[in-house]
Amino acid sequence: MYHSRLIVKPGSTIALKDYDPRYTGDYKNKDEAKGKLEGDVQQLAQYQDVLYAQNSYAVLIVFQAMDAAGKDSTIKHVMSGVNPQGCQVYSFKAPSAEELDHDYLWRSAKVVPERGRIGIFNRSHYEEVLVVRVHPELLDRQQLPASARKGDIWKERFEQINNFEKYLSANGIVILKFFLNVSRDEQKKRFLERIDEPEKNWKFSASDAAERAYWKDYMRAYEAVFNATSTEWAPWYIIPADRKWFTRLAVADIICERLKQLHLQYPVPLEAHKKDLLKAREVLESEKD
Ligand code: ATP
Ligand code: MG
Repeated sequence: MYHSRLIVKPGSTIALKDYDPRYTGDYKNKDEAKGKLEGDVQQLAQYQDVLYAQNSYAVLIVFQAMDAAGKDSTIKHVMSGVNPQGCQVYSFKAPSAEELDHDYLWRSAKVVPERGRIGIFNRSHYEEVLVVRVHPELLDRQQLPASARKGDIWKERFEQINNFEKYLSANGIVILKFFLNVSRDEQKKRFLERIDEPEKNWKFSASDAAERAYWKDYMRAYEAVFNATSTEWAPWYIIPADRKWFTRLAVADIICERLKQLHLQYPVPLEAHKKDLLKAREVLESEKD
């Protein structure tokens, strides 16, 4: 099974160069993968139905990636079967003035999914140890007291994030984290498409190209994240992202697998509720219309 190749085993030290962005498991092409993805999308919809009815667990799915890795389209395809009422997507942009006035986990904590829901973070609190690490001037804007900046702030933040996620997990929020691993070459190809195809122009901003210049810094920052924050309670998966069809398949498959482990069940009605149901049936059947 390819899952074990994609998960960052808690406690291990990985190097991103060992993860091939073009890897596609045993699948050779999109057509071969189609049936599997469709099956998983349907399965996911079924699990979500029970998750919602049971109203006990919540699922938090984090997506992180470089630009043009396919976060948006993966979310769109993988979630295409689920009931929109039970699913919430949050996109984290550069923090607002109000957000900067709070501790950095505040805006994530505010939108952790409710019980019964699947919450998707399109970018997340991890930006605080990625873009902020690559661009230290962003940290200066956070108005932290000197005491919060002494020592190794990234190490501290990793620990804080692990503790935050441990707390959520211990309270029934199941966490999965996906890094869509696109290669630098493939990103260039996708950027060029965005520039050349008028319908894709809106997806491209000049700052995307500027960030590309920091590629190495980002990869270093990502590696540090995986090695410090892939935990038993909130593991990271490094998903090959040069073939979009495999990205979707792998993400859907891993989510289904995790939901299966929860042994979700529709709630069993209480005796009193059963009586109410029987009474309601009698009333309905005795209606004369
Ligand atoms: P797309 O480009 O596909 O529409 P996106 O997720 O790249 O989606 P953008 O609006 O282009 O969305 O970018 C959001 C930007 O906000 C990213 O550059 C990201 O690094 C930045 N950002 C997110 N969280 C933080 C944060 N905590 N601090 C600073 N910058 C952040
Ligand atoms: Mg962008």
